[in-house]
Amino acid sequence: MTRPIAIVGGGKIARDQHVPAITASDDFTLAAAVTLPDAELPGIPNFRTLAEMARQMPEVKAVALCTPPRVRHGLALWALEQGLDILNEKPPAATMAEAEDFAARANAAGCVLYQSWHSREAAAVEPARAWLKGKTIRRVAVTWKEDVRVWHPGQEWIWEPGIGVFDPGINALSVITSLLPPLTLQHAELRLPANRQAPIAASLAFDSAGVPVTAEFDFDQKGPQTWDIDIETGQGALKLSLGASQMAVDGAAINVGAVPEYAALYRRFAGLLERRQSDVDFTPFAHVADAVRSGVRVTVKPFSWDA
Ligand code: NAP
Repeated sequence: MTRPIAIVGGGKIARDQHVPAITASDDFTLAAAVTLPDAELPGIPNFRTLAEMARQMPEVKAVALCTPPRVRHGLALWALEQGLDILNEKPPAATMAEAEDFAARANAAGCVLYQSWHSREAAAVEPARAWLKGKTIRRVAVTWKEDVRVWHPGQEWIWEPGIGVFDPGINALSVITSLLPPLTLQHAELRLPANRQAPIAASLAFDSAGVPVTAEFDFDQKGPQTWDIDIETGQGALKLSLGASQMAVDGAAINVGAVPEYAALYRRFAGLLERRQSDVDFTPFAHVADAVRSGVRVTVKPFSWDA
């Protein structure tokens, strides 16, 4: 038996990852979508509101929220009002207070909330955790550089305050916060295009139980894209590359398999639903909030989608 699930928001991530992952899943059937008129998902009933979907398709008990973060709070509250379980895309919401509000309400309503972090499902994350066990970490360097024009073509919401390069950067933070002792931000520099409200690049420095952790985020990377995490230990150097899908120790590649992130993510959601258990960790979002609050701002050249 598969569980009928609906996707809310019919944009890039819904089409690139959620639809194929649900279609290939043994746990779920894609039953419906809640979309705006210009972004309907083909082959299934599309509704304008969650209430309308719940009225017409009461068999749908779970939703995946795949909209930009700005509208997630309202959507999550509507979903919870209908008694629906929720898989929430990253980043969780527009603000931490919103995220904490719907997490508390999900708990009170007895609904399952899965705050998903797709990069934590990358194939090398669990092997890296196993390899790091008992080793002395000396320093960590994150290099997360991609081209916004390739991954978010024309998406103006990406430049809303607090997002920008933190949209991909939070993926790196989701990985390191799952592997390292708690991080505290020591310094942040945010580089904002003169014509935008969010950084196109950022340099962060954290402390993690006395270990220095640096993160270089860039949203203007032409050519090869870089999603690397280098962890130097007293017992060897671990490298996670291509968004933690690959792993090497002292330069030698380790086979970590290749389960796609979103397949693993829906498997985890199915397990949570089976156990009626939520999985909510907003730590990566808190670090972004800290950087936005305390980061030094530097103005850089205006951004253009055509550059
Ligand atoms: P997108 O292409 O802009 O898609 C978002 C969709 O949500 C749009 O179709 C938008 O419609 C729709 N929407 C907005 N408000 C809505 C509402 N109230 N009800 C229903 N639909 C609504 O953005 P995306 O790239 O898919 O990103 C969505 C989320 O996924 C973001 O949080 C992002 O961080 C995350 N994500 C994206 C990627 C990626 O590679 N793009 C990867 C992983 C995670 P309109 O366009 O008409 O406003």
